[in-house]
Amino acid sequence: QPITTDMEALTREVKKFATDKKLEIEMLKVREEYRREFLGNVSHELKTPLFTVQGYLSTLIDGAMEDKTIRKKYLKRAEKGVERLIYIVEDLDMITKLEVGDLNLEFSEFDIVELIQNVFDLLEMKADKKKITLAFDNYHIQPIFVRGDKDKIQQVLENLIVNSIKYGKEGGLTEVRVINLTKKKILVRISDNGEGIEKQNIPRLFERFYRVDKSGSRSEGGSGLGLAIVKHIIEAHKEKIYVESEFGIGSEFSFTIKKLLQNNLDILD
Ligand code: ADP
Repeated sequence: QPITTDMEALTREVKKFATDKKLEIEMLKVREEYRREFLGNVSHELKTPLFTVQGYLSTLIDGAMEDKTIRKKYLKRAEKGVERLIYIVEDLDMITKLEVGDLNLEFSEFDIVELIQNVFDLLEMKADKKKITLAFDNYHIQPIFVRGDKDKIQQVLENLIVNSIKYGKEGGLTEVRVINLTKKKILVRISDNGEGIEKQNIPRLFERFYRVDKSGSRSEGGSGLGLAIVKHIIEAHKEKIYVESEFGIGSEFSFTIKKLLQNNLDILD
């Protein structure tokens, strides 16, 4: 081969190496930025409940302990703060595993109708507190078998239904529906008639720590990770998640999941 070509090849190699290096540096920078942002968010999230707990404990030490009713009330509030911290740490643990792809899904076949009912039982008290009715489309009382990671799908259902209660209105309604999409897929839809979400906020909902209400003052505030976790779990299943919402009217979150053939649902349709 003529020497010039070699030189050209070499130059190409050098250039490629150079851009690869640049790319690598860029990627490291992005990662570093991401890490910094993540840590910033984490400490911010932890501060509110920590200060709450500290506040109640200090007040107790400074004398409130003498009063029996106040003592109990403040200890309970401090306990709530600790509970909240535990939720946040658990969510952080989950999102970290999901984001580094460290979470192995354990697939099994299970009845999604039963799972939805279990989640309803679990969240009944929370819904009762706001007089929200949890309704399941009774048309599908028969089992519907799907394939997925049961615990993770339970978490998805829990997060979505908890949100429908948190952002639902007093005396409102949360409705879960299972819809036959194709022979192999169903759509699980969770809808509420709560506060709804303004259009411009919808694209960012699934980002970690994103909240429409930035004040963080709402008593019901979660970790801001619920929907990010939901999205990761659904994507790890190679399924899809959708959201539709109208401000002041309500919201609808739905996800697809693989259905087993020979379900009663097929016979019904
Ligand atoms: P968190 O609820 O802990 O703030 P999420 O990731 O679960 O975090 O939700 C992100 C944001 O999306 C919420 O802060 C809220 O503003 C909005 N949101 C989620 N679900 C609903 C819903 N069903 N109705 C109205 N807004 C919702």
